[in-house]
Amino acid sequence: MAQFTDRHGAQHALPAPDAEAQVRADDRNHVFHSWSAQGLIDPLPVAAGEGATFWDYEGKDYLDFSSQLVNLNLGHQHPDLVAAIQHQAGRLATIQPAIANDVRGELARLIAEVAPDGLNKVFFTNGGADANEYAVRMARQVTGRRKVLSMYRSYHGSTATAISLTGDPRRWATEVSDAGAVRFFGPYLYRSAFHSETIEQESQRALEHLEQTILLEGPATIAAIIIETIVGTNGVLVPPPGYLQGVRDLCDKHGIVYIADEVMVGFGRLGEWFGIDAFDAKPDLITFAKGVNSGYVPLGGVVISDAIAERFDKVAFPGGLTYSGHPLACAAGVATFEVFRRDGILERVRDLSSRVVEPTLRAWTEKHPSVGEVRGQGLFWAVELVRDRETREPLVPFNASGADAAPMGAFTAAAKKGGVWPFTHFNRMHVAPPLIISEDDLVRGLTVLDEALTVADEYTTA
Ligand code: PLP
Repeated sequence: MAQFTDRHGAQHALPAPDAEAQVRADDRNHVFHSWSAQGLIDPLPVAAGEGATFWDYEGKDYLDFSSQLVNLNLGHQHPDLVAAIQHQAGRLATIQPAIANDVRGELARLIAEVAPDGLNKVFFTNGGADANEYAVRMARQVTGRRKVLSMYRSYHGSTATAISLTGDPRRWATEVSDAGAVRFFGPYLYRSAFHSETIEQESQRALEHLEQTILLEGPATIAAIIIETIVGTNGVLVPPPGYLQGVRDLCDKHGIVYIADEVMVGFGRLGEWFGIDAFDAKPDLITFAKGVNSGYVPLGGVVISDAIAERFDKVAFPGGLTYSGHPLACAAGVATFEVFRRDGILERVRDLSSRVVEPTLRAWTEKHPSVGEVRGQGLFWAVELVRDRETREPLVPFNASGADAAPMGAFTAAAKKGGVWPFTHFNRMHVAPPLIISEDDLVRGLTVLDEALTVADEYTTA
């Protein structure tokens, strides 16, 4: 029987391989999966997870360089998070949101303490999309305006408003035409919409474009601008110096609410509590989810500025959720803070980033003809793959699927064969392992990806 060793050296048996058939059958017959043509997928049955690793039923192990959906910041089966949930389940498994509850209040206080000054209240949601829905609702309530500006190349979630604000093809099939969504181009020097040649030009021109968009849309019609502090799934696009401060200034000038979507980058991914800490700009609302408790129990929320929170001191906020601030989820959140502080998670993210990930990835730009650019921060990096480094033609076309996506499919298959579960999107591979990954595993995983890139190199045309 296949076994695996946990972080304490204890041996655990994996379920017998013949259990896999039932898992597969139940899944194929009854589980309706996200974002998929149901008849064309073959989801991998996973038997166990521990730290940065998970195992299939054959006992093959994968290093999770995707942190599941970039949520598993503290890895699988973290003993402190598991214990916190078990303990909370034993004392009060659930309580409705109109009641004051100890762990809910404690987590809100802990979040407020690490949020930028002047953001002191938290509205809890079930995940990231609804956090953005509620942030937008707050902005509309306080401004009395309706439009919301968001970037092309962004993802804000799959509920009605969130998907309409999203700037990637996932919105095409379902966007709501009266959502009041207006999109603009953010900074992306490697594929500049503004023909910029320097990072300074890109920052300045992207801000000019945003201001033009605001003026032409009518400042008095715009409730909010929502921006992922570092654009996540759509490219790990790191904002250039000055850009987010410029957004803040434009919002101040025109009475617009600045919403920072930190669903992917919050809680340590960038080596900061909130990603915005690295960029010296202060949003009015910050949305979070994923890393707040590594997704052990669904949880998201909005951190609210005092000015916005006060608007609802005497007037009811029109919104709520049965599971807002669920005690099991909040207990895992409180434990997350304890682990981060005790184990110096933010410090180790910065250290591993600067000492291991960044130099390794930068070296790939020399070594692999398929690597056009690498960019990122903390344990959040993108490797942008191209057919030709001169022309920057992407390795696969935008939104490619089927045969068009074959080069990325071949790269992904090579990574998985080598024992790494990669995050890929369009022509990019992202490096986003759990923040607790050991240095040895990090180096081992990067070595596998390095080898898998030789498969991508075969598709280059230069
Ligand atoms: N915002 C960002 C930046 C995200 O990356 C995601 C999910 O990946 C969401 C919002 C939506 O979060 P959820 O899937 O929890 O609704």
